[in-house]
Amino acid sequence: MDERLSRRGLLGAGAAAAALLTVPATTASASAPKPGASRMTLRWWGNNGWEIRVPSADGRSEKTVLIDPWLTRFKTGTYTPQGADPKTPLSVDRALIDHHVDSGQLRADHILVTHGHYDHLTDVPYLAERTGATVFGTETHLSLMAALGAPEDQLAVASGGEYFAFDGYTVRILRSLHSATGARAQVPFPGTRPLSRRDRPQTIEDLLEGGTLAYLVTGGGASVLDFGGSNYVESELAGLAPDVLLMPTGGAAVAGYAARLLGVTGYPRYVAATHWDDFDLPLTDPPKDAGGLTALRDAVAAASPGSRFVVLDHLGSFVP
Ligand SMILES: [Zn+2]
Repeated sequence: MDERLSRRGLLGAGAAAAALLTVPATTASASAPKPGASRMTLRWWGNNGWEIRVPSADGRSEKTVLIDPWLTRFKTGTYTPQGADPKTPLSVDRALIDHHVDSGQLRADHILVTHGHYDHLTDVPYLAERTGATVFGTETHLSLMAALGAPEDQLAVASGGEYFAFDGYTVRILRSLHSATGARAQVPFPGTRPLSRRDRPQTIEDLLEGGTLAYLVTGGGASVLDFGGSNYVESELAGLAPDVLLMPTGGAAVAGYAARLLGVTGYPRYVAATHWDDFDLPLTDPPKDAGGLTALRDAVAAASPGSRFVVLDHLGSFVP
């Protein structure tokens, strides 16, 4: 069978190539790369929202893993000089989510949560309900999601170190760290809470970080490693050698942020920017750089000149 036609038919790689801009780290000019040889498709839903599609083990169906999907993107002021208003009420745009799920554009077998903050977790309870997906997160993440009405039998607790096999893909869950900001290297909205469905979160400050996880998803002949914040535990990453690193902007407070990360992950073939757009703007707008994209591009070019630096549009895709 023609692999290329088969991939195109199953995963829609032709359409996927549309909204893509990549810049090889070694040059300043943009170029559209040839689609990769894998049968994995990555699509970016803004912020740290990623959709990973791979064939099932028997090749007859498609499996979908989502990371930190956040479609609603209500206004918080996060990237204004004043910063986010902690009393911003949480909201979920159910009509928007219904539109994407009912039209078949968005499915999920698994949803992987990196941490509890509003720009990562808020939509997950309703997305879990609509898709039937299994959701991984820490005890705090599960506590927050249960209190927000997530179907509790779909929640699976993780602490980092797990390595699971599913139909056509594996999920490796890694201990990780949240971004640290300011001169004191502090985590915003820190803290944990025990598993409980009481005290429904109302505002963004109620969504505690609750520990941070990273995820390696392998399937369709490729592997992708995602971080929900600009920090990591270096020793957790030795030997993973992902094909694609989803790398957040920031990391100024972290010693050797880009150089250590790219070195320990084996200088991945692709480094795709994540968590770089101003999420006060809707997904239907083109992504607006919240301020860190150039610094990330330069840091990747300096530390790993052979990596291809990938910047996607909202809902843009690529095949590694
Ligand atoms: Zn966060």
